[in-house]
Amino acid sequence: MTSNAPVVLIIEDDPPIRRFLRATLGAEGYSLREAATGEAGVIEAASHPPDIVLLDLGLPDVDGLNVIQRLRSWSTVPIIIISARRKEGDMVAALDTGANDYVTKPFSVLELKSRIRVALRYSQQSPGEGNGVFTAGDLTVDLAHRHVTIGQREVLLTRLEFKLLAIFVKYAGNVITHRQLLEEVWGPKNTDAANYLRVYIHQLRRKVEEDPARPKYLLTESGIGYRLQTDPK
Ligand code: CA
Repeated sequence: MTSNAPVVLIIEDDPPIRRFLRATLGAEGYSLREAATGEAGVIEAASHPPDIVLLDLGLPDVDGLNVIQRLRSWSTVPIIIISARRKEGDMVAALDTGANDYVTKPFSVLELKSRIRVALRYSQQSPGEGNGVFTAGDLTVDLAHRHVTIGQREVLLTRLEFKLLAIFVKYAGNVITHRQLLEEVWGPKNTDAANYLRVYIHQLRRKVEEDPARPKYLLTESGIGYRLQTDPK
């Protein structure tokens, strides 16, 4: 184990899942720390600040949402929810409380590893780093010059469409809830105007996607929100 291995804190009460994560992520070179309760997890995160937290929502002592709130009161560490809960409402609440992403049990190891990589990449990038140009597949978004292209073709966006796309770029690779998008684009008073969002996503897809019915950049996370794919197939 190298000393600069990213530290992953697993907050999960189920020993077989902890064992599985320890084996899989340990083999990837991550350094693992574990907590079996929410209280122990918060204490562990405070005493040995991790690079990323994997958090189970169903814990024996406190609710996972409570753990997110407490971590967020002092830390911006990326939090990925690992949950058996199928209820989309729980996941949305966790994301709105400050979690960065989620996987649902049973999750694929490849998916989890990719979520961890994305979360670490964006948390290690300080604001203003890079040249302000985002690329994924044929899509290029130049934030400073407000210039969007697909391959050689320039994409003309309205002010609001660009604003929406820029928010996707800001959270590239991570899921964004409907509420987060509405709040960032239209302000905190308009968080239930989901119909605005649908209309603008539809317009944006018509401009940037080859086949808007089968998007490869602006993906729908059913019942939760959207995700800008950083590695389109
Ligand atoms: Ca559990």
